[in-house]
Amino acid sequence: MEVLLAEEFGFCFGVERAVEMVEEAVAEGGRVRSLGPLIHNSQEMERLKAQGVETIDEPAEVEANVTAVIRAHGVTPQVQRELETRAAKVVDATCPFVTKVQKLAERAAAQGRDVVLVGNPDHPEMIGVVGYAPDNTYVVRDAGEVEKLPNLHEPLVVSQTTLKLQTFLDAAEAVRLKADAEPQIVNTICSATRDRQDAARALAGEVEAFYIIGGRHSSNSVKLLAVCQEQCPRSYLIETAAEINPADLAGLRRVGVTAGASTPNWLINQVVERLREIGNA
Ligand code: SF4
Repeated sequence: MEVLLAEEFGFCFGVERAVEMVEEAVAEGGRVRSLGPLIHNSQEMERLKAQGVETIDEPAEVEANVTAVIRAHGVTPQVQRELETRAAKVVDATCPFVTKVQKLAERAAAQGRDVVLVGNPDHPEMIGVVGYAPDNTYVVRDAGEVEKLPNLHEPLVVSQTTLKLQTFLDAAEAVRLKADAEPQIVNTICSATRDRQDAARALAGEVEAFYIIGGRHSSNSVKLLAVCQEQCPRSYLIETAAEINPADLAGLRRVGVTAGASTPNWLINQVVERLREIGNA
């Protein structure tokens, strides 16, 4: 049985960078505290916990002798200052793609312009960005919500990095109708999610079963499952190799594998090894 990996899978650039930065902090010694879960993968979080990395919910929980970690989603400048005041050291693992959105919002606000942020107002990434332009920013989920906004002054329109392109384009168009000048529209959607979906789609038609490795609560993993199921009805979302049922593989010749953006390589390798083991049995 052949086991084929999708061309793009697993950790995105920002998550991989954040995990590497945390591992460097662990190697330097001392206690490491991540403000919010570093990634949405319980197996990887367990592994990091065994190395002394714990998750805290509030900056107030940071003690003076710890290294505090800002995860890839980023935080508000206010939270960053609080961490810097409390912790021995702060490791800022904000994804550079998120930093770009923060800087754009900050600059537009400094020029007295309005900022329209298209995304989920409750998402930590959005909360962080709003902190860079708190008095000038409107967060909208879609074009329908833009209609409820007041008139906008020379607006900047940016997006949550994981937003659907069409949602962003529709919202940007709606902003145009509300603006007193041509809006500055900057598509800040990150391609990581789409690249993984495109690669899974390309492979799904060529295999008889597809294993998607990721958390059941990870939205990008669930979406990957849906993409694979379109062409490969025998697609399974699993968290670990232990969930593979050998009976599902009986008589199959080609099996595909992909993984969500929070799935570490060591978990992916375990699944691939187990599939090969079953296939060669
Ligand atoms: S999905 Fe994109 S923006 Fe988000 S952390 Fe990964 S690379 Fe950065």
